[in-house]
Amino acid sequence: MTQEQTSEIKNIIDRALEQNPENKEIIKAFAPIIIRQRQLAEKPSEQKLDCLAIDKQKLKAGVPVSRQINLILPGDPLKEIALSLAEAVKEGMPQLTENIDLIAGLIKDDKIKPADYFKSTPDGESMATDVWAKDLKVSPSNASFLMSLVSRVILEQRANEITAAIGAFDWEKGYCPICGEFPSIALIEEEGGKRFLHCSSCGQDWRFTRVKCPYCEKDSKEGMDYFYVEGRTQESAFICDDCKKYLVTLYRVGHVLPRDMDVSAITLVHLAMICLLYTSDAADELLCVDLGGLRLIKKKQHQ
Ligand SMILES: [Zn+2]
Ligand SMILES: [Zn+2]
Repeated sequence: MTQEQTSEIKNIIDRALEQNPENKEIIKAFAPIIIRQRQLAEKPSEQKLDCLAIDKQKLKAGVPVSRQINLILPGDPLKEIALSLAEAVKEGMPQLTENIDLIAGLIKDDKIKPADYFKSTPDGESMATDVWAKDLKVSPSNASFLMSLVSRVILEQRANEITAAIGAFDWEKGYCPICGEFPSIALIEEEGGKRFLHCSSCGQDWRFTRVKCPYCEKDSKEGMDYFYVEGRTQESAFICDDCKKYLVTLYRVGHVLPRDMDVSAITLVHLAMICLLYTSDAADELLCVDLGGLRLIKKKQHQ
């Protein structure tokens, strides 16, 4: 990552802090992690994927790259990346220092092998953190957190490599074409009204129709609930009537300063929290709520 890119992401984070003082703790906690991840992902990977094995017909049919080829390769420098990110986690979240130091020490001594985390069982679950928790007495949630941060760095490198190698392709699903995860946030452009979904697991963005729920593909024309913070209608959250899943959405109006979708996803965490509240069983009658001084309003979408 060039110095210029590092200072751009720092500027974006500084602006997010200014504009969202109510979320300053969480933004500050994640800032060193996001910056470190970008720096690590910027270095080209020494392992090369077999991009010729990626079938565009399968992509068109909704099979993401992760179900066609392995995205984590045996020679990936997972240990180095994990140790580097452990430092960034401690910087942003000093309350985790003791736990993270324990995990980092075991990684250094090869008692924890990050590669084990990426070996999944037939049903796709990693068992490694359970084993580490039992045998090595580490916090399984902190170990999973650190490994998910490592995963993002590798997958971002791979997403860049794949999109450069295979060029344009058709993709019509609400989950990520690279890694298969659902989006963390969406962006709608004022001009043309296109909707883009963003995957925080690998950093990929892709276009998706505005009339469907990305999760269940229900046609959303009949209306969806949405929420916004009073006075901030460019940031909202949609909840699907059918599957009750939600998606935080940004509107980009005209020419705005550069945004970063991962920073935005963290900056708008209050919307995600309110969606969790509204999708809980007890919340049917709520119409507006105060959260940390922000007034959130529920609307029916009219199309
Ligand atoms: Zn992805
Ligand atoms: Zn849905």
